[in-house]
Formats: sequence, C-alpha cells, structure tokens
Amino acid sequence: MNRLFVALALPEHVRSALTRLRRGFPGARWVAEENFHLTLRFIGEVDNRSMDDIAERLDRVREPGFDLEIDGFGCFETKGKVRALWARVPANEELLHLQRKIDTALDSVGVPRETRKFKPHITLARFKDAPLDRVNHFICESSPFRVGSFPVGSFTLYRSFLNRDGPIYRPEVVYPLDGGDFSDPYFDEFRDGEDYEFEESEAAS
Ligand code: ATP
Ligand code: MG
Repeated sequence: MNRLFVALALPEHVRSALTRLRRGFPGARWVAEENFHLTLRFIGEVDNRSMDDIAERLDRVREPGFDLEIDGFGCFETKGKVRALWARVPANEELLHLQRKIDTALDSVGVPRETRKFKPHITLARFKDAPLDRVNHFICESSPFRVGSFPVGSFTLYRSFLNRDGPIYRPEVVYPLDGGDFSDPYFDEFRDGEDYEFEESEAAS
C-alpha cells in the first residue's frame, strides 16, 4: 500500500529559516528540514491502481502559481494537551482555489473527504503532551517571524514512509502550476533528478 498526501513543498530558504526556530522543548519531535510542507489533502493508504488514478486525475488540475507567506504560529490541542506546533500561512484566494480543485479532483476518484476545515499550516514539531504555557512562550519568543513572501510554482503528490526515526516523504509526482514567470527551484531540482521515476506504479499497470 502507498500512504499518500498532496502538499506544497517549500523553498530552501524558508525551510532553513523554520529549522532555526528549533529550541528548548523536551520531548518534541521536530520536523526534519527536508520534510517541511503545507498539506493540501491527506489521502491515506491506497493500492497501486488507485495511486495511478489519483496521479492521473491530479495531472488535470490546471491552476496558476502564486505567492505565500508565513505570519505567525499556532498549535493544535486535544483535551488540553498540545499535540502540534505549526507556522501559520494566511490563506489567499489562489491557495484556497487550488485546494478546492484538488479536493474535487480527489473526490472524483473516491478519496474520502477530510472532515476538518482546511487550515493552511506548516507543522514544526509534534508532542505527546506539551504544556500550553511553554508553547505560548515559544511562540512569543519566535515572533515576529519574517521570511517574506515566497513563490509556489508546483504542488506535489507525496508518498509517506513512517519509520521509528520519523517519516520520510518521497515526492512521487510534482505538478507544475501555470505561469511562465514563476521560477520554482524545487520543481527544477525534481525535474533534473533521475531518482524519481514512477517505477512502482508502472510495474503495477
Ligand atoms: P507521523 O504520523 O509519524 O507523526 P506525519 O504525520 O508527518 O508523521 P503522515 O501521518 O504520513 O506523516 O502524514 C503526512 C501528512 O498528512 C502530514 O502533513 C500530516 O499532518 C497529514 N495528515 C496525516 N493524517 C491526516 C489526517 N487524518 N487528516 C489530515 N491530515 C493528515
Ligand atoms: Mg501522522
């Protein structure tokens, strides 16, 4: 089975700025620098055939590139326990539009809908149970956080491998967004790489 999700990759300078925030949190599982991403839709475990359908359907999504920024931090809490700390990305029309297009595309190939409302964020760390005052202190100390706006020129179908040392996210397909002016170093890097052939799915079809 393939554990899949659709997300935006982040430029290198944004990822390294986020990595520099790491500090003072016993028990935190910090997200590895290469793993920072903005999830657009979690897909879950699917077989090779569904993965091919998903990849093909996503290829028909045609949307323009756009800019994003990071304007603060927040956390997810369940039953008074902080589970995740994240950087907040203000939603703009283009982002919401792309997210809806991806939702519709995945609905049409039978991927179950996420029940929670889309809340654009970049997870920085996960916890078993972090005290809220400590998290708030971190947020105060780390604010304001400014990386400036950055271009998004593609979205990515990732495959996730859950390991004891932390997950590995492997880009399976990178889909360019429209817009001739958009430079997307991440996409160029992907296109130039030879490692990312679509081997497994081809073998299955
Ligand atoms: P781990 O599960 O080991 O903490 P992870 O959550 O980063 O690692 P995955 O569970 O494969 O790895 O998740 C991949 C991405 O999808 C992450 O951004 C995660 O937050 C998001 N995600 C995972 N499960 C769901 C879900 N049920 N609904 C929405 N998003 C999800
Ligand atoms: Mg998870």
